[in-house]
Amino acid sequence: MRIHKIAAIPADGIGPEVIAAGLEVLNALASHDGGFKFDIEHFPWSSDYYLEHGYYIPEGGLEQLKAFDAIFFGAVGSQQVPDHVSLWGLRLPIAQGFDQYANVRPARVLPGVQSPLKGGEDIDWVIVRENSEGEYAGNGGRTHRGLPIETATETAVFTRAGVERIHRFAFELAQKRPAKHLTLVTKSNAQRFGMVMWDEIFYEVAADFPDVKVDRELVDAVTTRMVLKPKTLDVIVATNLHADILSDLAAALSGSLGIGPTANLNPERAFPSMFEPIHGSAFDITGKGIANPVATFWTAAMMLEHLGEQGAAKRLMQAIEAVTADKVHTPDLGGKATTADVTRAVCEFIRAGK
Ligand code: ATP
Repeated sequence: MRIHKIAAIPADGIGPEVIAAGLEVLNALASHDGGFKFDIEHFPWSSDYYLEHGYYIPEGGLEQLKAFDAIFFGAVGSQQVPDHVSLWGLRLPIAQGFDQYANVRPARVLPGVQSPLKGGEDIDWVIVRENSEGEYAGNGGRTHRGLPIETATETAVFTRAGVERIHRFAFELAQKRPAKHLTLVTKSNAQRFGMVMWDEIFYEVAADFPDVKVDRELVDAVTTRMVLKPKTLDVIVATNLHADILSDLAAALSGSLGIGPTANLNPERAFPSMFEPIHGSAFDITGKGIANPVATFWTAAMMLEHLGEQGAAKRLMQAIEAVTADKVHTPDLGGKATTADVTRAVCEFIRAGK
């Protein structure tokens, strides 16, 4: 029996609702498969926990997480805590501390789902986001607070090692897809140091992947290309900030923020990787039982792939697609189904073993 140790961190907003749904589906898959099971430990780290204790991650917390095969993360963000405090308190220490430098975000219009875009059916992208440095390196400071000379800096950090490894990862990913096409996205006309180095290193790495077709786009231009010519894109590699923005756009174009999955990978497996839906806490629908769990299910499928359970990952994607095709849709997709309805339908498909 293969046992996968999972650290579940549901955290804030709809996080607990979608993670509970995700775990239900994962356990249904394990029961159906019979060859593996999950050993799941819940961590209560959240904004409520922060308000009570003064920290998100207790001392030794990261050390504790190291023992797990993967981290299944909900969402962080609360109306009681400034966003930069919650993000830097919980999600970023894990992603950066565990060197999860490759953030992978697929976007596709699932069967039965309506894209807001004419031609939306052509969306089949993977956005590869550099996840360890760049604009979110945390390099900056603020002085002379409150004075007219108050100054703040937020310096993006690009290292050759960091840029090369994300390009290499993106090329390897693109090489495995039918289109074998990788688009480099930067802003190297206006930003002439870090971005120009990104471009240069991209073409150096490209020499090792002659079978991957490449092209290049500025970040502003790629937004219009995503909307007007979705079919011309396959895999996109971009910096932390740029890819963060592009992947929200991609999720919305594929029907809803409630669909998009994310994997934060440490490809070398020196540390556990973290899997989370793209969306955040979504306070407006928290506690109403209507959060779309599809993003979390798709995220769970990516986690299964990472854990070497390719069969279960495929079955889960089939289940998700059967259920979206059946129009078991939550309100964000124009339906009336609840989180529980969608979860039940996915579990039934899995158990039926179709
Ligand atoms: P955060 O600051 O944590 O990113 P947010 O509420 O500002 O949170 P998101 O949670 O990413 O931003 O989502 C924006 C909106 O999209 C939500 O208010 C909600 O209406 C919708 N949304 C996001 N995720 C889902 C979901 N899983 N199911 C249904 N609607 C969702």
